[in-house]
Amino acid sequence: MKIGFIGLGNMGRPMAENLADAGHEVQAFDVAGVGSDKLEEAGSAADAARGAEVVVTMLPSGAILRDVAAEIIPAMDEGAVLLDCSTVDVESARAVAEDAKAAGLLALDAPVSGGTGGARAGTLTFMVGGDADGFAKAKPLFDVMGQKAVHCGGSGNGQAAKICNNMILGITMIGTCEAFALADKLGLDRQAMFDVVSTSSGYSWSMNVYCPAPGIGPDSPADHDYQPGFAAELMLKDLRLAQQAAEAADADTPLGLAARDLYADFVEREDGASKDFSAMLPRFETRGR
Ligand code: NAD
Repeated sequence: MKIGFIGLGNMGRPMAENLADAGHEVQAFDVAGVGSDKLEEAGSAADAARGAEVVVTMLPSGAILRDVAAEIIPAMDEGAVLLDCSTVDVESARAVAEDAKAAGLLALDAPVSGGTGGARAGTLTFMVGGDADGFAKAKPLFDVMGQKAVHCGGSGNGQAAKICNNMILGITMIGTCEAFALADKLGLDRQAMFDVVSTSSGYSWSMNVYCPAPGIGPDSPADHDYQPGFAAELMLKDLRLAQQAAEAADADTPLGLAARDLYADFVEREDGASKDFSAMLPRFETRGR
């Protein structure tokens, strides 16, 4: 396929390179330069989009996505797919999809989980909102860039799935970290705590797969001085998007709100910036009630 790819950052570049390695022709654009000999560099976002069957965007925010979409939608061929893989607010995803559909395009919001490791290995999970025919057209690309693509319904539902998942993740990580810190103070050995909880009703991905305690459970960022992994800043971004959506939808999410405020303190007022989101454990460890 002829593919346009816009936003070649930590995630976008390996995703685009995997598409090129699979034999697709990729025209790429990034304001900071493309920096890959596997990709053909376009002079602008519109140039990257022109003539492409699918245009993938992998951008930092909803505001930037809206700007880029306004530039590329008029340049795209009728029937082409605008496939946004960025994590953005539900409202921006739906607004961009509406503009794309009005111009005769197919539109998908398809945020990912799996991080930069998953982007490089081609093992991302895509959560996809949009029409079934757009999903079918993009499916071969999901198969190259990821291991799983779940069609979640209409436009914006991919973003909705992503922020609901990450709201659960933020809350369970905080719960796991505060429970370890409490266990320490009660004199309970961390390995014993892991052995019990990982096989009891308190188990979760945060405990079992990504344990925040160094030396316990499978290898995780805790075993590498909390180098991300999934950076606390990115968790904060997703928790903010969840609260923005909850406010717009009038949903009561008290723990999501508390998780957002804790990660905001950690990243913006303490020393959490640039650490993995599981570094909440050393934070709780050093605090008293
Ligand atoms: P990044 O900051 O590394 O990359 C974003 C890229 O977009 C940059 O290279 C930037 O120059 C480019 N860009 C900005 N404005 C542009 C414009 N107007 N036109 C063209 N290019 C422009 O971010 P990332 O880590 O690659 O993340 C991309 C998206 O994926 C974000 O929405 C993020 O929330 C999401 N995400 C990231 C991860 C992760 O682990 N990094 C995991 C899941 C989802």
